[in-house]
Amino acid sequence: MDCLFCSIVSGDVPSKKVYEDDQVYAFYDIDPQAPVHFLVIPKEHIPSAGAVTEESSAVVAHCFEVIAKITAQMGITDFRVVSNCGDQAGQSVHHLHFHVLAGRDMTWPPG
Ligand code: 5GP
Ligand code: ZN
Repeated sequence: MDCLFCSIVSGDVPSKKVYEDDQVYAFYDIDPQAPVHFLVIPKEHIPSAGAVTEESSAVVAHCFEVIAKITAQMGITDFRVVSNCGDQAGQSVHHLHFHVLAGRDMTWPPG
């Protein structure tokens, strides 16, 4: 399967690693939208938040455990987690990922 984030997980496409374990990989976004902007992804290919199932939801929970661990290690208490699902929402890579953004004031609603 031709998937950019699967290629990042396998190491075929280089990335700046933030965290890795057997289930999850985290790396800095190539086009940061905040002073801190990294992505947390399941190593398993799940196309989007809309494709999470009873069988795959445990890794999603683990992603959030990892987000809490990484931000705490970075000393970040205020941050935003975003997952775009589908073209209209702005999803450009069709492998589930959670953006973690921090280090500046955030507006609401998002654009
Ligand atoms: P989406 O638009 O699907 O919500 O988020 C995809 C994110 O992946 C974007 O923020 C984009 O900058 C990032 N991205 C796209 N290609 C690469 C890449 O090759 N390396 C890294 N580190 N990030 C990428
Ligand atoms: Zn993938």
